[in-house]
Amino acid sequence: MLIKEHIYTIPVTDAFRTAAGESACPICVMRRGLESDSLVYTLGPSYMEDDTRAQTDKLGFCPEHWEKLYACQNRLGLSLIMHTHIKYLSRIMDKQTDVKKPLKHAGMFAKSADPSEPLYKSLNEAECGCFICARVNRILERYIDTMFYMWPRTPELLTLARKCGGFCLAHFVMILKIGPDTLKESDWLEFMNAVFPIQRQTLESLEADLDWFIRKYDYRNAGEPWGNSKDALPRAIKAIGGAL
Ligand SMILES: [Zn+2]
Ligand SMILES: [Zn+2]
Repeated sequence: MLIKEHIYTIPVTDAFRTAAGESACPICVMRRGLESDSLVYTLGPSYMEDDTRAQTDKLGFCPEHWEKLYACQNRLGLSLIMHTHIKYLSRIMDKQTDVKKPLKHAGMFAKSADPSEPLYKSLNEAECGCFICARVNRILERYIDTMFYMWPRTPELLTLARKCGGFCLAHFVMILKIGPDTLKESDWLEFMNAVFPIQRQTLESLEADLDWFIRKYDYRNAGEPWGNSKDALPRAIKAIGGAL
């Protein structure tokens, strides 16, 4: 393990502890923490640094993060960021009008002569990009690597994972994608042997609780106790859709 990755072991353990207390997915908790750090970072001194501003100019933000940045109340900071982002977009548009004419006559480059293609590519990059999502995902991948590294060495993680009911669907799928490439086969099998039963058990109990929740709508069951089913739907949404 790289020395650099050691700095991530504390946030990973903290996220598992918080997740156990909230019955939430630990990776959702990591993501939430990284998102709020990133909002502060984006509107902190970083936006006056040229390299950061070059990135926010190019990537912009997704609709959710524009909203969250606006809610942070730093109107001047966000206006400066938005101003140079719009200038960047305008430069792309201007470049497009410049290249339009020569491309029309460039018969031998006919394949790339569709004048809308560079405009589409450049604007699509800005439209699909988000400085905060990119930053969160980049650090989250480090956290997940660290989690894999810590797993066999830190039995507390398994205890906490049992308590929180495992990972949400999106993050379980993420684990399935990167785990086999990150861990050696025996470690991956050990990890899955521990986590798979937790995921399965969570689905089984949610299925049963939802079943009873639905059956409680039948007037014949009206007088029966709710058992664990009263909050089955929000719990299922959190387990499947992830925790905010
Ligand atoms: Zn999650
Ligand atoms: Zn975003």
